[in-house]
Amino acid sequence: MKSFFEYYKPYKGLFMLDFGSAVFVGVLELIFPLMTSLFIDKLLPSKDWPNIVLGAIGLFLVFGFVTVLKFIVTYWGHKLGTNIERDIRNELYQHMQRLNFGFFDRNKTGKLMGRLTNDLMDIGELAHHGPEEVFVAVMTVIGALIIMLTIDVKLALITFCIVPLIFALTLYFNRKMTTQFRRLFGNVSAFNDVISETIGGIRLVQAFTNEHYENERFKKTNEDFRRTKLKAYNYMSWNTSIGYISQKFTLIIVLILGCYFVLQNMMSYGEFVAFIMITDILFKPLQSINLIIELFPKGIAGFNNFKEIMATEPTVKDSAHAISFKQEPEEIVYDHVTFKYGEQTILDNLSFSIKRGEQIALVGPSGGGKTTICSLLPRFYDPSHGEITLNGQNIKDYTLSSLRKQIGIVQQDVFLFSGTLKENIAYGNLDATDEEIMWAVEQAQLKSFVDTLPEGIHTIVGERGTKLSGGQKQRVSIARMFLKNPPIIILDEATSALDVETENRIQAAFKRLSEGRTTLTIAHRLSTIRDVDRILFIENGRIVESGSHDELIAQQGKYYQLQQAQYAQVMS
Ligand code: ADP
Ligand code: MG
Repeated sequence: MKSFFEYYKPYKGLFMLDFGSAVFVGVLELIFPLMTSLFIDKLLPSKDWPNIVLGAIGLFLVFGFVTVLKFIVTYWGHKLGTNIERDIRNELYQHMQRLNFGFFDRNKTGKLMGRLTNDLMDIGELAHHGPEEVFVAVMTVIGALIIMLTIDVKLALITFCIVPLIFALTLYFNRKMTTQFRRLFGNVSAFNDVISETIGGIRLVQAFTNEHYENERFKKTNEDFRRTKLKAYNYMSWNTSIGYISQKFTLIIVLILGCYFVLQNMMSYGEFVAFIMITDILFKPLQSINLIIELFPKGIAGFNNFKEIMATEPTVKDSAHAISFKQEPEEIVYDHVTFKYGEQTILDNLSFSIKRGEQIALVGPSGGGKTTICSLLPRFYDPSHGEITLNGQNIKDYTLSSLRKQIGIVQQDVFLFSGTLKENIAYGNLDATDEEIMWAVEQAQLKSFVDTLPEGIHTIVGERGTKLSGGQKQRVSIARMFLKNPPIIILDEATSALDVETENRIQAAFKRLSEGRTTLTIAHRLSTIRDVDRILFIENGRIVESGSHDELIAQQGKYYQLQQAQYAQVMS
């Protein structure tokens, strides 16, 4: 709770304004019954027209003021809520940007999206309505109680005996309703998962003509959703009806008792009317308490989720004594590196080194650990044992950003954002000038393609680059690399998904990119790595062979066998 209130701190002024206005609204509501009683008992019998008019004008002014206060509560109160919501969301997003690959391996994107959207909206609502509604409800109940007691102690006590009973009853149905609605929200996210998956995979669905299957699956989810929703509305109907009848029931009891009290000359007509009106007002805080009961668990759950993610500290981060890497990367050494995912050993006591400008290739069966080896260099993950050094110093001693500036990674599936070609290329260096971008386009052999586009470099690439072919996407990622211009390049099966002809064309761009840079190439097709300085054959997280192409062929080991197998495939 305390950490929640921390977020109000920057908005003390707004909070006081909202809070103060709300309290005034709550208290001033009680003036109307009191004035009515005055009108009936005093002004009416004396036929005092000037004062009746004056009283009416007074009331009009009071409620004009209340209207202004209500506007303040609705607008500035929500402003307070949205401010806090924005602050918490920014904090969460910034924190997520720092979290490691491991965290994103464990948490689904859909879930994290929920944390940033739905959860945050619940927090925002709670931030606005929470303290204010509780306080106003309490104030109104206390105010009403005082007025009722001053009118008639007995009737006040009787009324206050009935109200808690009704309160308990509505509370019961309200709880049922909110639980059901919460279940509904759970269903919504399940629903969203189904939709995003099947719409995202619509090309696959249609290619396999499985529309009917998907329709049936969807209908079932949709029907489940309808049922859950209807159940929630069932409780809602009970809730509304019970609330309504109990309010009327209380009023009728007060009406009967009031008549009796008036006939016994224990109460005036004016007081009688005022009493009934206040009883009616008493049900308002009941409703706001219901609202709080609904908002509170949601907001708190959202806030706890937020706190949980905030408490997840990135394990890969700058150490306290980290220095910026400002030299030329001379030598990279993997020194007895072991890496585990949970219990599973992925890399097993692996040692090798790469000199500046050297071209190294990693080959071997898939799942052998090649990608993992490359992921350790920019510290996407840290080794479980052993260390990786750059220029003789553990890479953990450098700041993450200075280390990652040295390394460029091109992967098989290129990720493009939904903007223009230019924006996607400029991602390699956000400060790049137009000239630099065009230079990168040329270096990546992308110019002739860009020239065929009516809008050239300003063409929108579509969601995730769906409007581009695999080879074009790959060249966009190469252009990015030219802009980033890192001294170390990792190519992770960058051309494996492309056909041989496209691959050959892109190979030229890769050659140019590799010039003068230290390069680690993970290759699926061995034909592409024949000229590298050294080939490491990786299997089960170990280096089983190492040497130049000619040396490994002469050895007639695993590399040789793989080479033979691929050659046979090409020939057949
Ligand atoms: P390669 O690139 O040689 O095909 P990888 O380095 O991708 O091999 O994978 C090596 C092993 O690590 C595989 O057994 C794979 O299942 C496992 N692995 C890869 N990424 C993850 C991950 N994010 N979480 C758990 N296991 C993983
Ligand atoms: Mg791989």
